Amino acid sequence: MLPQFFDSVLSLVVKTSTDLPPDVRAAMKVAMAQEPASTQSGQALAIIAENIDLASDCEGAICQDTGMPTFEVKTPVGANQIEMKKQIREAVAEATKRGKLRPNSVDSITGDNSGDNLGPGTPIIHFEQWERDEIEVKLILKGGGCENMNAQYSVPVELPNMGRADRNLEGVRKCILHAIWNAQGKGCAPGAIGVCIGGDRTSGYVYAKEQLFRTLDDVNPDPRLAALEASIMGEVNRLGIGTMGFGGRVSLIGCKIGMQNRLPASFFVSVAYDCWAFRRLGVVLDSKTGAIRQWLYRDETKPLIAMADQAGFQRTGREIALQAPLTEAQVRSLKVGDVVLVSGRVFTGRDQVHHYLMSHEPPVDMRGSVLYHCGPVVVKEGGGWKITAAGPTTSIREEPYQADVIKRYGVRAVIGKGGMGPKTLAALKEFGAVYLNGIGGAAQYYARTVQKVHRVHLLEEFGVPEAMWHLQVKDFVAIVTMDAHGNSLHADIEQASGNELDALQTA
Ligand code: SF4
Repeated sequence: MLPQFFDSVLSLVVKTSTDLPPDVRAAMKVAMAQEPASTQSGQALAIIAENIDLASDCEGAICQDTGMPTFEVKTPVGANQIEMKKQIREAVAEATKRGKLRPNSVDSITGDNSGDNLGPGTPIIHFEQWERDEIEVKLILKGGGCENMNAQYSVPVELPNMGRADRNLEGVRKCILHAIWNAQGKGCAPGAIGVCIGGDRTSGYVYAKEQLFRTLDDVNPDPRLAALEASIMGEVNRLGIGTMGFGGRVSLIGCKIGMQNRLPASFFVSVAYDCWAFRRLGVVLDSKTGAIRQWLYRDETKPLIAMADQAGFQRTGREIALQAPLTEAQVRSLKVGDVVLVSGRVFTGRDQVHHYLMSHEPPVDMRGSVLYHCGPVVVKEGGGWKITAAGPTTSIREEPYQADVIKRYGVRAVIGKGGMGPKTLAALKEFGAVYLNGIGGAAQYYARTVQKVHRVHLLEEFGVPEAMWHLQVKDFVAIVTMDAHGNSLHADIEQASGNELDALQTA
């Protein structure tokens, strides 16, 4: 049955992971036009643009966090959904084997990686029947950094900087603005949000995520919700969060709001935050063969919108070259806002490595080291390893460990995204280290800075994304956002955008 279904779904997975849809490209173009090129947001957008082009050119993952694959499938009455589910799972495993998806599915208690993106609840597949004689498969890949920025409010609720949110559209507006403010750069802003008003706690989140299947330029058929979407888009950029939370004019590229009935006793506002790497596509398939009849969200007869201008990311000459290992004097000379180009050996380390280092000595001497919060996509090649995607992951998850790791092992620089908290900031100052913010999602761009994989530790124990990879990098671009003098750009932007939120209430 459906002899081409597997190939069609595999094409969908690969294309979704590697080729940003035209509506998202268009929205990012608008964002790029608004941020002056010389600002930190402007520079970050130039790298993002280059990354998007690189990913589609080489069919590489746009972001190394290829996310939770979530399929929405519509089938004719009588179609064999059991067989389709089996083939969708096989296509996901095959895309993982080909390095188009990072192995992302882990046992929730042990953290053991299944290695093929299959496991209880992974991938997510929702089926629905319809009266049409064709199959529709839509896919969204939404990574952990933005997923962690989802929010659900049970109104009425008191919100910081916003006051009370009541059970009306004004209350919904407050919840949405609060969720965007709270995300700052951690979800790789500028993002897009799907919102559900109502439902229950479960259906609210599901329906909020479903809103992300709407195109960014559509207009809500419900005039009340259309007005709310327009009003959010009109005022949200006054928050000044900017790309990656660096401060800037664009904080959001889309707001899509839906509504479900609720119980009289409950009023939930659920917000699904997606990052700029907003990967969703769809296909319409022949119901007899499973062959692709039509792509959704993209028109193959129209040329792709190229993102970067010919120059791409431009150096200003003010960048500071850092060669690892680093000295204390070197890092103490850096200050918030400096753009650095890191070269030399860096070690990757995410949640499992940080947890491990709390009770074990590191497998290498980390004095003067650069520790990179990154879970790369890696393929075996010629007896060695090749990094095919390697952007930074959200750093705040390591906040409980980072200060101790810096203190115990002499780490001089931490690269990640989204910033860290007060405990790490204090450790940077006390022990002489810096936090360098990379451009979240720029997995292809950063993969090209890796000249060599020297070796890997803890691979057997933790799997590919969580292992400690020893990477030789050249000119890895990052911005100092937390320095050794107690300054944090993240804290400053959070404060300033909170003040703007306050001002929006009184305007
Ligand atoms: S762009 Fe950022 S938030 Fe989005 S999947 Fe990649 S790392 Fe996660």
